Amino acid sequence: MRQVAIYGKGGIGKSTTTQNLTSSLAEMGKEVMVVGCDPKADSTRMLLGGMDQKTVLDTLREEGQDIELEDIMRKGTDFSNIRCVESGGPEPGVGCAGRGIITSINMLESLGAYTDDLDYVFYDVLGDVVCGGFAMPIREGKAQEIYIVASGELMAMYAANNICKGIKKYAESGGVRLGGIICNSRKVDGELELLEAFAERLGSQLIHFVPRDNIVQRAEINRKVVIAYDPESNQADEYRTLAKAIDDNELFVIPTPMEQEDLEDLMMEHGILEL
Ligand code: ADP
Ligand code: SF4
Ligand code: MG
Repeated sequence: MRQVAIYGKGGIGKSTTTQNLTSSLAEMGKEVMVVGCDPKADSTRMLLGGMDQKTVLDTLREEGQDIELEDIMRKGTDFSNIRCVESGGPEPGVGCAGRGIITSINMLESLGAYTDDLDYVFYDVLGDVVCGGFAMPIREGKAQEIYIVASGELMAMYAANNICKGIKKYAESGGVRLGGIICNSRKVDGELELLEAFAERLGSQLIHFVPRDNIVQRAEINRKVVIAYDPESNQADEYRTLAKAIDDNELFVIPTPMEQEDLEDLMMEHGILEL
Protein backbone atom coordinates (compact mmCIF):
# COMPACT_ATOMS: atom_id res chain seq x y z
CA MET A 1 0.00 0.00 0.00
CA ARG A 2 1.45 3.36 -1.03
CA GLN A 3 0.38 6.25 1.18
CA VAL A 4 0.68 9.60 -0.56
CA ALA A 5 0.23 13.14 0.74
CA ILE A 6 -0.58 16.02 -1.63
CA TYR A 7 0.60 19.45 -0.53
CA GLY A 8 0.56 22.96 -2.00
CA LYS A 9 -0.65 26.50 -1.44
CA GLY A 10 -4.39 26.95 -0.78
CA GLY A 11 -6.33 27.25 -4.04
CA ILE A 12 -3.51 25.86 -6.18
CA GLY A 13 -5.56 22.81 -7.18
CA LYS A 14 -4.73 20.07 -4.66
CA SER A 15 -8.27 18.73 -4.32
CA THR A 16 -8.99 19.02 -8.05
CA THR A 17 -5.75 17.29 -9.00
CA THR A 18 -6.10 14.60 -6.33
CA GLN A 19 -9.59 13.63 -7.43
CA ASN A 20 -8.73 13.63 -11.13
CA LEU A 21 -5.57 11.69 -10.51
CA THR A 22 -7.06 9.09 -8.17
CA SER A 23 -9.95 8.45 -10.56
CA SER A 24 -7.35 7.79 -13.27
CA LEU A 25 -5.63 5.32 -10.94
CA ALA A 26 -9.00 3.67 -10.33
CA GLU A 27 -9.51 3.48 -14.10
CA MET A 28 -6.18 1.61 -14.24
CA GLY A 29 -7.66 -0.92 -11.81
CA LYS A 30 -6.06 0.37 -8.62
CA GLU A 31 -7.84 0.29 -5.27
CA VAL A 32 -7.74 3.78 -3.76
CA MET A 33 -8.84 5.59 -0.63
CA VAL A 34 -8.88 9.41 -0.53
CA VAL A 35 -8.75 11.12 2.84
CA GLY A 36 -9.51 14.85 2.85
CA CYS A 37 -7.31 16.44 5.51
CA ASP A 38 -8.54 19.98 4.99
CA PRO A 39 -11.21 21.54 7.21
CA LYS A 40 -12.86 22.83 3.99
CA ALA A 41 -13.98 19.21 3.42
CA ASP A 42 -14.22 19.50 -0.37
CA SER A 43 -11.61 16.88 -1.19
CA THR A 44 -14.00 14.19 -2.40
CA ARG A 45 -16.92 16.25 -3.76
CA MET A 46 -16.42 15.31 -7.42
CA LEU A 47 -15.75 11.65 -6.66
CA LEU A 48 -19.00 11.46 -4.71
CA GLY A 49 -21.19 13.22 -7.26
CA GLY A 50 -24.16 14.69 -5.44
CA MET A 51 -23.80 12.49 -2.40
CA ASP A 52 -23.63 14.04 1.01
CA GLN A 53 -20.38 13.27 2.79
CA LYS A 54 -20.44 13.79 6.52
CA THR A 55 -17.05 14.53 8.01
CA VAL A 56 -15.46 12.29 10.61
CA LEU A 57 -15.38 15.11 13.15
CA ASP A 58 -19.06 16.02 12.64
CA THR A 59 -20.03 12.36 12.93
CA LEU A 60 -18.04 12.04 16.13
CA ARG A 61 -19.62 15.21 17.51
CA GLU A 62 -23.15 14.06 16.70
CA GLU A 63 -22.98 10.34 17.30
CA GLY A 64 -20.18 9.89 19.80
CA GLN A 65 -17.46 7.26 19.52
CA ASP A 66 -19.82 4.47 18.55
CA ILE A 67 -19.65 4.84 14.78
CA GLU A 68 -19.37 2.43 11.86
CA LEU A 69 -16.94 2.68 8.98
CA GLU A 70 -19.88 3.18 6.59
CA ASP A 71 -20.81 6.36 8.49
CA ILE A 72 -17.58 8.09 7.51
CA MET A 73 -16.43 6.30 4.36
CA ARG A 74 -18.42 6.50 1.11
CA LYS A 75 -17.75 4.85 -2.24
CA GLY A 76 -17.37 7.12 -5.28
CA THR A 77 -20.17 7.37 -7.84
CA ASP A 78 -18.44 7.08 -11.23
CA PHE A 79 -15.54 5.21 -9.68
CA SER A 80 -17.23 3.02 -7.14
CA ASN A 81 -13.98 1.47 -5.94
CA ILE A 82 -12.69 4.79 -4.59
CA ARG A 83 -13.25 5.07 -0.85
CA CYS A 84 -13.83 8.66 0.25
CA VAL A 85 -13.33 10.18 3.70
CA GLU A 86 -13.42 13.81 4.87
CA SER A 87 -11.78 14.50 8.19
CA GLY A 88 -13.44 17.89 8.59
CA GLY A 89 -12.28 20.47 11.08
CA PRO A 90 -13.17 22.41 14.19
CA GLU A 91 -15.96 24.94 14.35
CA PRO A 92 -14.85 28.27 12.86
CA GLY A 93 -12.88 30.30 15.37
CA VAL A 94 -11.99 27.30 17.48
CA GLY A 95 -8.51 25.89 16.94
CA CYS A 96 -7.68 22.22 16.90
CA ALA A 97 -3.86 22.14 16.82
CA GLY A 98 -4.12 19.68 13.97
CA ARG A 99 -5.91 17.16 16.19
CA GLY A 100 -8.84 16.98 13.78
CA ILE A 101 -6.87 15.22 11.14
CA ILE A 102 -5.15 12.79 13.44
CA THR A 103 -8.46 11.95 15.14
CA SER A 104 -9.81 11.00 11.73
CA ILE A 105 -6.84 8.88 10.79
CA ASN A 106 -6.93 7.09 14.14
CA MET A 107 -10.64 6.48 13.72
CA LEU A 108 -10.08 5.01 10.25
CA GLU A 109 -7.42 2.73 11.65
CA SER A 110 -9.52 1.49 14.52
CA LEU A 111 -12.46 0.83 12.18
CA GLY A 112 -10.24 -1.22 9.88
CA ALA A 113 -10.28 1.08 6.84
CA TYR A 114 -6.68 0.31 5.86
CA THR A 115 -7.41 -3.03 4.23
CA ASP A 116 -4.72 -5.07 2.48
CA ASP A 117 -6.39 -4.78 -0.91
CA LEU A 118 -5.69 -1.03 -1.06
CA ASP A 119 -3.02 0.01 -3.56
CA TYR A 120 -3.08 3.67 -2.57
CA VAL A 121 -4.21 6.02 0.19
CA PHE A 122 -4.10 9.70 -0.76
CA TYR A 123 -4.18 12.47 1.85
CA ASP A 124 -5.30 15.84 0.46
CA VAL A 125 -3.65 18.08 3.03
CA LEU A 126 -4.42 21.70 3.86
CA GLY A 127 -2.00 24.23 2.47
CA ASP A 128 -0.96 26.15 5.54
CA VAL A 129 2.50 25.21 6.83
CA VAL A 130 1.96 26.90 10.20
CA CYS A 131 -1.21 24.97 10.93
CA GLY A 132 -0.80 22.05 13.30
CA GLY A 133 -2.59 19.85 10.78
CA PHE A 134 0.08 20.37 8.15
CA ALA A 135 2.50 17.69 9.23
CA MET A 136 0.07 15.17 10.72
CA PRO A 137 -0.08 12.66 7.86
CA ILE A 138 3.71 12.60 7.62
CA ARG A 139 4.55 13.09 11.28
CA GLU A 140 2.57 10.10 12.38
CA GLY A 141 4.39 7.97 9.81
CA LYS A 142 1.30 7.48 7.66
CA ALA A 143 2.22 8.93 4.28
CA GLN A 144 5.69 8.02 3.01
CA GLU A 145 5.38 9.82 -0.29
CA ILE A 146 4.69 13.48 -1.03
CA TYR A 147 3.81 15.45 -4.14
CA ILE A 148 3.61 19.23 -4.13
CA VAL A 149 1.22 21.02 -6.45
CA ALA A 150 2.67 24.32 -7.67
CA SER A 151 2.59 26.77 -10.56
CA GLY A 152 4.91 29.45 -11.92
CA GLU A 153 3.24 32.12 -9.80
CA LEU A 154 5.40 33.69 -7.14
CA MET A 155 3.23 32.76 -4.15
CA ALA A 156 2.82 29.17 -5.31
CA MET A 157 6.60 28.81 -5.62
CA TYR A 158 7.22 30.39 -2.21
CA ALA A 159 4.68 28.06 -0.67
CA ALA A 160 6.16 24.98 -2.38
CA ASN A 161 9.62 25.92 -1.16
CA ASN A 162 8.34 26.48 2.39
CA ILE A 163 6.54 23.16 2.31
CA CYS A 164 9.87 21.55 1.39
CA LYS A 165 11.41 23.14 4.47
CA GLY A 166 8.58 21.63 6.50
CA ILE A 167 9.02 18.22 4.91
CA LYS A 168 12.81 18.15 5.23
CA LYS A 169 12.92 17.71 8.97
CA TYR A 170 10.39 14.87 8.92
CA ALA A 171 12.25 13.26 6.02
CA GLU A 172 15.53 13.38 7.90
CA SER A 173 14.08 11.78 11.01
CA GLY A 174 11.56 9.46 9.33
CA GLY A 175 10.94 7.70 6.09
CA VAL A 176 8.89 10.31 4.23
CA ARG A 177 10.21 11.39 0.82
CA LEU A 178 9.33 13.92 -1.86
CA GLY A 179 8.20 12.15 -5.03
CA GLY A 180 7.96 15.23 -7.21
CA ILE A 181 6.36 18.54 -8.11
CA ILE A 182 3.10 18.60 -10.04
CA CYS A 183 2.75 21.79 -12.07
CA ASN A 184 -0.89 22.84 -12.22
CA SER A 185 -0.46 25.51 -14.85
CA ARG A 186 -1.51 29.11 -14.40
CA LYS A 187 -0.30 29.89 -17.92
CA VAL A 188 2.68 31.88 -16.70
CA ASP A 189 5.29 32.53 -19.44
CA GLY A 190 8.12 29.99 -19.34
CA GLU A 191 6.30 28.04 -16.62
CA LEU A 192 7.40 24.57 -17.73
CA GLU A 193 11.10 25.46 -17.78
CA LEU A 194 10.84 27.34 -14.49
CA LEU A 195 9.16 24.46 -12.71
CA GLU A 196 11.63 21.96 -14.17
CA ALA A 197 14.53 24.04 -12.90
CA PHE A 198 12.87 24.52 -9.51
CA ALA A 199 12.22 20.79 -9.08
CA GLU A 200 15.82 20.05 -10.00
CA ARG A 201 17.09 22.54 -7.41
CA LEU A 202 14.98 20.74 -4.82
CA GLY A 203 16.76 17.51 -5.80
CA SER A 204 13.46 16.26 -7.19
CA GLN A 205 11.60 16.21 -10.51
CA LEU A 206 8.66 17.78 -12.28
CA ILE A 207 6.49 14.69 -12.41
CA HIS A 208 3.91 16.19 -14.77
CA PHE A 209 2.76 19.51 -16.20
CA VAL A 210 -1.04 19.69 -16.02
CA PRO A 211 -2.40 22.34 -18.41
CA ARG A 212 -5.01 24.85 -17.34
CA ASP A 213 -8.29 24.09 -19.10
CA ASN A 214 -11.85 25.30 -18.48
CA ILE A 215 -13.12 21.76 -18.90
CA VAL A 216 -11.94 21.27 -15.30
CA GLN A 217 -14.49 23.86 -14.13
CA ARG A 218 -17.23 22.48 -16.36
CA ALA A 219 -16.67 19.02 -14.90
CA GLU A 220 -16.53 20.50 -11.39
CA ILE A 221 -19.92 22.24 -11.77
CA ASN A 222 -21.34 18.89 -12.78
CA ARG A 223 -19.68 17.35 -9.72
CA LYS A 224 -17.58 15.08 -11.86
CA VAL A 225 -13.92 14.46 -12.44
CA VAL A 226 -12.74 15.15 -15.98
CA ILE A 227 -12.32 11.50 -16.98
CA ALA A 228 -15.97 10.89 -16.08
CA TYR A 229 -17.30 14.14 -17.58
CA ASP A 230 -15.42 13.86 -20.88
CA PRO A 231 -13.28 10.72 -21.02
CA GLU A 232 -12.04 11.49 -24.57
CA SER A 233 -10.79 15.01 -23.81
CA ASN A 234 -7.14 16.07 -23.81
CA GLN A 235 -7.39 17.05 -20.16
CA ALA A 236 -8.59 13.55 -19.24
CA ASP A 237 -5.45 12.18 -20.89
CA GLU A 238 -3.28 14.64 -18.96
CA TYR A 239 -4.62 13.25 -15.69
CA ARG A 240 -4.10 9.69 -16.94
CA THR A 241 -0.49 10.56 -17.76
CA LEU A 242 0.00 12.04 -14.30
CA ALA A 243 -1.46 8.93 -12.69
CA LYS A 244 0.83 6.68 -14.73
CA ALA A 245 3.89 8.80 -13.86
CA ILE A 246 3.10 8.52 -10.15
CA ASP A 247 2.41 4.80 -10.45
CA ASP A 248 5.78 4.31 -12.18
CA ASN A 249 7.73 6.78 -10.02
CA GLU A 250 11.01 5.63 -8.52
CA LEU A 251 12.59 8.96 -7.56
CA PHE A 252 12.02 9.67 -3.88
CA VAL A 253 14.24 12.25 -2.17
CA ILE A 254 14.79 14.35 0.91
CA PRO A 255 14.16 17.80 -0.58
CA THR A 256 16.82 20.52 -0.59
CA PRO A 257 14.77 23.73 -0.17
CA MET A 258 16.12 26.92 -1.71
CA GLU A 259 17.15 30.11 0.05
CA GLN A 260 14.59 32.86 -0.58
CA GLU A 261 17.18 34.88 -2.53
CA ASP A 262 18.10 31.95 -4.76
CA LEU A 263 14.46 31.30 -5.44
CA GLU A 264 13.95 34.91 -6.50
CA ASP A 265 17.08 34.73 -8.69
CA LEU A 266 15.74 31.61 -10.33
CA MET A 267 12.48 33.39 -11.09
CA MET A 268 14.39 36.35 -12.56
CA GLU A 269 16.45 34.04 -14.75
CA HIS A 270 13.19 32.74 -16.16
CA GLY A 271 11.82 36.23 -16.66
CA ILE A 272 9.09 35.94 -14.03
CA LEU A 273 10.40 38.69 -11.77
CA GLU A 274 11.79 41.86 -13.32
CA LEU A 275 14.90 43.49 -11.92
P1 ADP B 1 -6.94 23.49 -3.31
O1 ADP B 1 -7.50 22.17 -2.98
O2 ADP B 1 -5.46 23.46 -3.51
O3 ADP B 1 -7.33 24.58 -2.35
P2 ADP B 1 -8.76 23.37 -5.54
O4 ADP B 1 -8.45 22.00 -6.03
O5 ADP B 1 -10.00 23.55 -4.76
O6 ADP B 1 -7.52 23.94 -4.73
O7 ADP B 1 -8.72 24.29 -6.85
C1 ADP B 1 -9.18 25.62 -6.89
C2 ADP B 1 -9.90 25.89 -8.19
O8 ADP B 1 -9.00 25.82 -9.29
C3 ADP B 1 -10.99 24.87 -8.46
O9 ADP B 1 -12.23 25.50 -8.37
C4 ADP B 1 -10.72 24.34 -9.85
O10 ADP B 1 -11.83 24.45 -10.67
C5 ADP B 1 -9.60 25.19 -10.39
N1 ADP B 1 -8.60 24.37 -11.10
C6 ADP B 1 -7.72 23.50 -10.52
N2 ADP B 1 -6.94 22.93 -11.46
C7 ADP B 1 -7.32 23.45 -12.67
C8 ADP B 1 -6.88 23.27 -14.04
N3 ADP B 1 -5.88 22.46 -14.35
N4 ADP B 1 -7.51 23.98 -15.01
C9 ADP B 1 -8.51 24.81 -14.69
N5 ADP B 1 -8.96 25.03 -13.44
C10 ADP B 1 -8.38 24.37 -12.43
FE1 SF4 C 1 -7.59 24.62 11.33
FE2 SF4 C 1 -5.10 23.75 11.39
FE3 SF4 C 1 -5.92 25.41 13.26
FE4 SF4 C 1 -6.84 22.89 13.23
S1 SF4 C 1 -4.73 23.55 13.58
S2 SF4 C 1 -8.04 24.77 13.53
S3 SF4 C 1 -6.93 22.52 11.01
S4 SF4 C 1 -5.75 25.89 11.08
MG1 MG D 1 -8.57 21.55 -1.31
